[in-house]
Amino acid sequence: MKYAAPRGTKDILPDEAPLWQAIERACRETFGLFNYREIRTPVFESTEVFSRSIGDSTDIVSKEMYTFADRKGRSLTLRPEATASVVRAALENNLLSTDNLLKVYYLGPMFRYERPQAGRQRQFHQAGVEAFGSADPSLDAETVQLSVKLFENLGLKELAVDLNSVGCPECQPVFREALKKYFAAHLAELCDDCRQRFAANPLRLLDCKEARCQKYIEQAPAMIDHLDPECQAHFAKVRGWLDGLKVKYRVNDRLVRGLDYYTRTVFEVVSKQLGAQNAVCGGGRYDNLVKQFGGKSVPAIGFAVGLERLAEIMGKSKVKSQKSKVDLFIAVLGEQAKKVAFDLMSQARDLGLSADTDFLGRSLSAQLKAADRLGAGYVYIIGDDELAKRSAALKNMKTAEQKEVPFAELFTQFAGECGKGCSCEE
Ligand code: ATP
Ligand code: MG
Repeated sequence: MKYAAPRGTKDILPDEAPLWQAIERACRETFGLFNYREIRTPVFESTEVFSRSIGDSTDIVSKEMYTFADRKGRSLTLRPEATASVVRAALENNLLSTDNLLKVYYLGPMFRYERPQAGRQRQFHQAGVEAFGSADPSLDAETVQLSVKLFENLGLKELAVDLNSVGCPECQPVFREALKKYFAAHLAELCDDCRQRFAANPLRLLDCKEARCQKYIEQAPAMIDHLDPECQAHFAKVRGWLDGLKVKYRVNDRLVRGLDYYTRTVFEVVSKQLGAQNAVCGGGRYDNLVKQFGGKSVPAIGFAVGLERLAEIMGKSKVKSQKSKVDLFIAVLGEQAKKVAFDLMSQARDLGLSADTDFLGRSLSAQLKAADRLGAGYVYIIGDDELAKRSAALKNMKTAEQKEVPFAELFTQFAGECGKGCSCEE
């Protein structure tokens, strides 16, 4: 084979597509129930849209971005996540105000130059929501509730919500100093990345996945012990609302998340059915990002769900999605029969029935086998005799019943089966 898909990318093949469609449908429906409307932004942006917001010392900006110069030498980047793009789009199109809530969702491919492994690709998909305009803790709780609702609607169990607060620009510096003081004593034992994080952004130390750093991370000071009174009160209210909503969660005081723009509430949904890369959803509040983009001060919160990981859990949970089937397969012998078939297929499709025929000049028995493989509901068989009498045998593939139906009455027969003009079993 001459070509292979680029490293870290995957084809979603026709057999897998129904699962993806079911996931996408559940995302749209659930987001809609919470009054989110879709926004679609370009898959690439000016590089600064990401570098300025996500943070220079994060893994994403420091080593994972797909950045390239276009033909005019502009620096562009394939989006590694969508929050920054959504903020850019909302500001550019004047969608934001402080006396109105904007709730938007997105769904699409993201790009990160990572080492491909289980649960990690270079092109992957996320669905996510962003709500702009309120700093109220009830919105934090509703956002967490929405993520849980989505997984419930997909029939998924064995998920847990991790919740933490990363404070605000007032209390974070104090915590950062406490972390630096603590980790300074263990620098020699930490991984190379962590030694860099120590200098550039000590908060990121808590996010390290390396085994050798874990025992130091476990003993490190916790942000929730360093929150200022306002952040403390906010966190307590978020927890209160979550309890009121009966959303189960656990406080994980190590949770910091991989992007710099988060303030106060951060959360992740993790699955017991995944390996090391066990987070299916991550999100949090980002009250200063809009201002940082040059807008007004508009508080916001959101989350993103990793769809590959979701698809993997669903595959494991045997959450079956319907295989698509063709309603009518018309087996044809000869050019003239095919012309009739084309006319009948047009009528079928006008009625909303899926239809197909033979394009390979196969024998009748090969065509019947093909129809079987396609899961055809009905097969209509047209040869020379049938052309002469303008009538042919219609075979119900499920019951193997066969009856003679004139060309002109084919679709009244279909309608007769269920009254809706299709071959379903309702
Ligand atoms: P991780 O710690 O697993 O690298 P992250 O903090 O980089 O996650 P986020 O930026 O929070 O991830 O993205 C939200 C979700 O998107 C993750 O929980 C995960 O399900 C999914 N995700 C992130 N990166 C990838 C990737 N390279 N391949 C597949 N899914 C991904
Ligand atoms: Mg990552």
